[in-house]
Amino acid sequence: MQRRDLLNHLCKTSPEPIGIEVASAQGSWVVDTAGRRYLDFIAGIGVANVGHRHPAVVAAVRDQLDRYLHVMVYGEYLQAPQMALAAQLAAVAPAPLSVTYLTSSGAEAVEGALKTARKFTGRPGFVAFERSYHGDTLGAMSVMGQKEPRAPYEPLLPAVQILPWDETAALGAIDERVAAVILEPIQAEGGVRLPSQDFLRRVRERCTAKGALLLVDEVVTGFGRTGRLFAVEHWGIVPDLLILAKAMGGGMPLGGFIGRPELMATLSVDPPLSHLTTFGGHPVSCAAGLASLRVIQEEGLAEQAAKSGRRLLDTLAGWSGRSGLQTVRGLGLLIGMEFETAARCERLVNDCRASGLLLGWTLHHDRVVRLAPPLNLTDDELEQGLSVIK
Ligand code: PMP
Repeated sequence: MQRRDLLNHLCKTSPEPIGIEVASAQGSWVVDTAGRRYLDFIAGIGVANVGHRHPAVVAAVRDQLDRYLHVMVYGEYLQAPQMALAAQLAAVAPAPLSVTYLTSSGAEAVEGALKTARKFTGRPGFVAFERSYHGDTLGAMSVMGQKEPRAPYEPLLPAVQILPWDETAALGAIDERVAAVILEPIQAEGGVRLPSQDFLRRVRERCTAKGALLLVDEVVTGFGRTGRLFAVEHWGIVPDLLILAKAMGGGMPLGGFIGRPELMATLSVDPPLSHLTTFGGHPVSCAAGLASLRVIQEEGLAEQAAKSGRRLLDTLAGWSGRSGLQTVRGLGLLIGMEFETAARCERLVNDCRASGLLLGWTLHHDRVVRLAPPLNLTDDELEQGLSVIK
C-alpha cells in the first residue's frame, strides 16, 4: 500500500498536517524517513523533558515489558510501578499533596480533578481564565477560555465563568457556588502568558476564603520545564489538586492529579467505583515515569532548564524589533516569541522547519511561536537552534 493510501485512513485534525514521516528520535533530535535530521525545540509539545528515548527510560520500559503489561483497571490490583511512582510524587510535590490518581492523559486528569472538586464540595460551578487550555474532552473544553474551538461542541458544562487572566479585580466572581478554580500557572496555549507576581497568591487566598478548590494544571509546566520541578514553586502557592501529564511519562502516555489524603478519599466512597479508568497508570508508563522523574532530579534538569532558558530568552529578547518580533517572554525552557502578525509567526515556524529546526505554534494565540526543547539540550544544540532562528 502506498503511503498516501495509508494516510487516507488516519483521521486528520487539520487540513494540512506537518507530515514529517518519523523514522527515529533520540535526545534532542528527530530523524525522518528520508534521513533528514531535525533539532527538536518543541519536544512533542513539552513531553520529551528528558529528551527522546533517554536510556534510563528505555531500560525501565524494557524491564517492565518482561514482567507484565496491563492486568486490571486502575485501582484494584497492587502494581509496583504505580505505587513507586505515586510515592516518589508524594516526596516531591508540595505538602500536603501526597495521594495521586493516575490517568493516561492530561485531559483525563483534568476531568478527574473537576469531578473530584464537584463531589468533594457539592457545588456546581467552575471558574477558568481567558485563553486557558485544559484539553479537548467535553469537561476540559468547558473550562477552555477561548470561544471558537468550543462553539461546535456547545452546550458544554453549565455554571462555568471565564475571567480575564491576571486581573485581581475580577476574582470577586469566585463565590460559594464555585466548586473549583482551574488555571495554568503559565498559560501555554494562550501564548506563554505569565501572571504578575502576586496574582496566583490572590487566587489562592480567594479560593480559601470562599471554600472553592484551586486546581493547578501543570500538564505543560510540570517536571522541570520552567526551571523548578513544578511551576507553583516560583510563586509559593499550594493548590488543592495538582494536575500533571505530558512529560510525566518520559514519552509514554501518563497523567494524574495529586491532592491531600482526605480530598482524594472522596473518590473511593459515596458511591465507590464512580470514577474509573482501564488504562490509567499503565505499569509500563509508570515505570517510564519513575525513571524520567529520577533523571530530572539526579541530572538537575530543572536547574539546567533555568540556565538554558535564561540564555535563550536573553538572546531572543535582544532580537526584538527585528522581522516583526515584538516581545519574548517565558520561564525556564517554556518561551514565547510574539510577532506583529500571524503571518510572520507562521513564516518563522515554516522557515525553521525547512532549515531543520522544529518550533511550535500556540493554539489560542496566533501571533506567538513557542519554544519548548528538551531540558537537557546541550549548549551546542542551543546555539545551533538560535543560529537557525536568527
Ligand atoms: N492541560 C494543558 C495545560 C495542556 O496544554 C494540555 C495539552 N496540550 C492538556 C491539559 C491536555 O493534555 P492531553 O493532550 O494529554 O489530553
